[in-house]
Amino acid sequence: MAEISKAKSFVPAHQLLSLPGSVEIVEAFKALDKAKAGGLVVTAAGIPTLYAPIRDLAQALLDEAQRKGWPALARATLAQVVDAAIEAGALNGATFGGSLLGKLDEASVERPRKTFFAVVDAARVHIGWYLSEEALGRTIESEPLAFLCERGHRNEDPEHGRCRSCEAPIVGLAP
Ligand SMILES: [Zn+2]
Repeated sequence: MAEISKAKSFVPAHQLLSLPGSVEIVEAFKALDKAKAGGLVVTAAGIPTLYAPIRDLAQALLDEAQRKGWPALARATLAQVVDAAIEAGALNGATFGGSLLGKLDEASVERPRKTFFAVVDAARVHIGWYLSEEALGRTIESEPLAFLCERGHRNEDPEHGRCRSCEAPIVGLAP
């Protein structure tokens, strides 16, 4: 089998955005749209805690908006949306398993389900991430999200729940 840093489930650091859970969700989606990645690493006090596919977070945000209304979510944080997604059983993500040396043989590493690792080089410099399941890795490469308003216009981020073209409420995700 391959070295961790050459494995299929290895993601170079620059391809996966890390954001603190304290970031406002609106800002998080703007950053995610720019990064064109299908997932992100959520950190707390600088330490990775969770890998979350964006589609799951977007759906959790829409569900929350339906329950509470967009104004109530204006200042919601990424961590709050993550918690809502977990509570709803809608987050198909991974928890942090610590760090791994990139030159280790993939076969020699214990890979618990739904776990991700920080990958470091011999000098302990962070070079990327390793996901314990290939299916998780595929979520990173998924198509950029589009939020749909009531009239079906596409928006790259949910902003504050209003369509950029027509001001109608954001109500769903493009398939
Ligand atoms: Zn619209």
